[in-house]
Amino acid sequence: MTNVLVVVAHSDDEALGCGGTIAKHSANGDKVTLLVMTDGISSRIASHCVDGGSVDKNQRLSALQKSCNVLGISQFVQGDFPDNKMDSVELLSIVQFIEEKTKNLNPEIIYTHSVDDLNIDHSLTAQAVLTAFRPLPQSSVKTILSFEVLSSTEWQFSSSQFQANWFIDISDFYLKKVASLQCYSEELREFPHPRSLIAVQALAQLRGATIGKCHAEGFQLLRHQS
Ligand SMILES: [Zn+2]
Repeated sequence: MTNVLVVVAHSDDEALGCGGTIAKHSANGDKVTLLVMTDGISSRIASHCVDGGSVDKNQRLSALQKSCNVLGISQFVQGDFPDNKMDSVELLSIVQFIEEKTKNLNPEIIYTHSVDDLNIDHSLTAQAVLTAFRPLPQSSVKTILSFEVLSSTEWQFSSSQFQANWFIDISDFYLKKVASLQCYSEELREFPHPRSLIAVQALAQLRGATIGKCHAEGFQLLRHQS
């Protein structure tokens, strides 16, 4: 059994970024823990829906619980960092939160965002993960991989960008990925928006075709020790 940790900024990033891979780990009997940094809705409460905020929050939590059930995630922890405003918080606080919540976990594999994502919460989460799990002598971590999240990763047009160099065949788990995404139906959009089921399928097929499989998820290896 491998201890796997997934750290995401928003609930639904786990489904978009590595839902098939999580389902595959679960099927292999691995223990998967999910850490979600924000509640995924607070900026929208502040700007659009002051009255309905708590209902939205509960809905989003319920969607997260359903997604965890679909993917076989053993446990999840949700933080309350401000959605789309994690840059208003000191990086040290984010690092300390991750350290505190994963204290006795001893993960061997960690999946998180790309530091190059356009979304500021994604980028800061990735930076905080790399800091919290810096390679100290007693570290349990063997592998850190960043995943891609449609409508953030590919919208970064700078010279420093996510590059998939690690592929996981999810052909047998693609439908689980779709089912987890459907838990967040309110976050999905119509094609040609990249956060649509058509675009999700296109990316999974492209990553799959890259390695001669029907469906895959692409990652960028950040650190690995054998
Ligand atoms: Zn996100």
